[in-house]
Amino acid sequence: MNKISVLVIEDDVAINNLIKTTLETRDYKYFSAYNGLDGILIATSQNPDIILLDLGLPDIDGNEIIKKIRSYSNTPIIVISARSEDKDKVEALDNGADDYLTKPFSVDELLARIRSTSRRLMYMNTVPFQTNLFENGELKIDFASGVVYFQEEEIHLTPIEYKLLCLLARNVGKVLTYTFITKEIWGSSWDNDVASLRVFMATLRKKIEKNGTSYIQTHVGVGYRMIRI
Ligand code: CA
Repeated sequence: MNKISVLVIEDDVAINNLIKTTLETRDYKYFSAYNGLDGILIATSQNPDIILLDLGLPDIDGNEIIKKIRSYSNTPIIVISARSEDKDKVEALDNGADDYLTKPFSVDELLARIRSTSRRLMYMNTVPFQTNLFENGELKIDFASGVVYFQEEEIHLTPIEYKLLCLLARNVGKVLTYTFITKEIWGSSWDNDVASLRVFMATLRKKIEKNGTSYIQTHVGVGYRMIRI
């Protein structure tokens, strides 16, 4: 298998070096940039598999970089940010970032995010985009007939639970924000929609997490993600 290449855009030299060393010892190919402009140039010229992006850069705001990259590519972007405020993560995710790491983070955490993103990449590359069957652990969704199976048994979902499950499944591995989900489900994003979302998510979970497997991860203040089991 070809080495996975990672572009690191981070102005903090110590953190950039730490990530570089970590990637090097785990046999990843890497590129590094210390400002936004170089980052965009390398992203365009080298076409890395994954981008690690610090939001606070000296020249261009990280969110502008995400928008720029998203205008021409779907390369997974993991945001790294010292800003622990939820609104920055949410803005980055809404702009198309796939995941986030909050500084300070551990090397294990970093590697775990890169691994799960690589799995998602492999899945994106091997499974045709418009597939009619989704399988994840003991969960199966037949999109064509609108039927969901858990441990080979059909489970009954309400229309909203079904919509929610499909949305999470089609974006498996990716953190979806409350705003994104409520807009997709209800076409709006009021506080009431977010409150309803919590309720539907709880009932959905009860139905698909019967055997104790957690398919859906909660990101407090941010949103939800379906994990590939
Ligand atoms: Ca920075």
